Amino acid sequence: MSLQIDFSTPSARAQFAAAATMRAERPSLIGMTREEMGRALVDAGVPERQVKMRVQQLWHWLYVRGVSDFAEMRNVSKDLRATLAERFTIARPEVVEEQISNDGTRKWLFRFPPRGAGRPVEIETVYIPEEGRGTLCISSQVGCTLTCSFCHTGTQKLVRNLTAEEILAQLLTARDRLGDFPESDTPNLSNKNGGAIVPAEGRKVSNIVMMGMGEPLYNFENVKKALLIASDGDGLSLSKRRITLSTSGVAPEIARTGEEIGVMLAISLHAVRDDLRDILVPINKKYPLRDLMDACRKYPGLSNARRITFEYVMLKDVNDTIADAKELVRLLRGIPAKINLIPFNPWPGTNYQCSDWEQIERFADYINEAGYASPIRTPRGRDILAACGQLKSESERMKKTERLALEAMMIAGHGEA
Ligand code: SAH
Ligand code: SF4
Repeated sequence: MSLQIDFSTPSARAQFAAAATMRAERPSLIGMTREEMGRALVDAGVPERQVKMRVQQLWHWLYVRGVSDFAEMRNVSKDLRATLAERFTIARPEVVEEQISNDGTRKWLFRFPPRGAGRPVEIETVYIPEEGRGTLCISSQVGCTLTCSFCHTGTQKLVRNLTAEEILAQLLTARDRLGDFPESDTPNLSNKNGGAIVPAEGRKVSNIVMMGMGEPLYNFENVKKALLIASDGDGLSLSKRRITLSTSGVAPEIARTGEEIGVMLAISLHAVRDDLRDILVPINKKYPLRDLMDACRKYPGLSNARRITFEYVMLKDVNDTIADAKELVRLLRGIPAKINLIPFNPWPGTNYQCSDWEQIERFADYINEAGYASPIRTPRGRDILAACGQLKSESERMKKTERLALEAMMIAGHGEA
């Protein structure tokens, strides 16, 4: 049984609605570059000579301590705290729902206030604890413009791109809820590195993957800003080796991803022939396998120590034969690569089925023998619909009958996985 915490009592809703209205009018300091924050402070009347120091203080409070209220910034004068609170926000999004799977996976439904004339939006973020690490799966868009035929998110229209603040807010709020800001009230405010107390060991969120809802390379600038802040050494300081961006194959943006963001790359490959990939991952019609593989070969920083991960969803009788495995090995020749086999996670209305477990193992063995690491991704959080490709937002959340149908499908077809 999974545990479900409901944040939607009428009074909680009313409070959040009021806060959301106020927040929508004030820009958030979260997600700004240091330069943008500096300019914002000058506009708020902070003397130029103090700006650098103030930006450093704020950066520390926001990203090392994880505070979400200006009142907690103890080394900032009361007057300035009041000015900041009038003009800016650092509040977290509303946590509409938190679900905890029986395998420890957590899924949150976050609600962000409207941007401009739009409506509030909701997105899902998933935390997957494993031996020695904890991975947060972050969304980049509300919905997706692409229509991969096996993906539940793909059946939902794009509502909008998430801002850099909203992308980071998923990390910050998850860490709040996991108690993963242990330094939030340590009295000593600085160290010799200019204020950053970097919690290197024992973090609950040690890795992030841009594998939630949306295509991150269709929201390049916001994703870039957020990931550069997440990896900033005086703040959240996640190593770029522990950040993975997954793309369905937006070939022209791949070089920039390496040059300007420098994180690990994952490609949603799923098929080794253009005719099949055109159906499974329709962006293939625009950027076919040849263009995609060329872009991968040229990925900046690629080496045996920094391999590209190729994701391959196992669909019964569609892409799971040994002939496919052979072609996969041929296709990846010369590219430092890992292959991640993902058992298909079903959702109501899909015509696909997950490959039989023996077939997945046969496929994995073939690839292993060809010299590739090919872990099979253990489905996590299936009981709370937190597995790959099952994320959707409130606007399209499943009806109870659909949920029950899905549970029945999973018990019938995947109990062994
Ligand atoms: N849009 C990006 C990142 C998000 S999807 C992308 O497509 O790469 C993260 C991974 O889950 C992708 O490889 C995606 O193809 C895969 N996926 C989507 N739906 C799935 C499903 N129902 N079962 C298993 N994996 C799925
Ligand atoms: Fe979008 Fe990725 Fe799903 Fe394709 S697999 S529809 S790109 S979220």
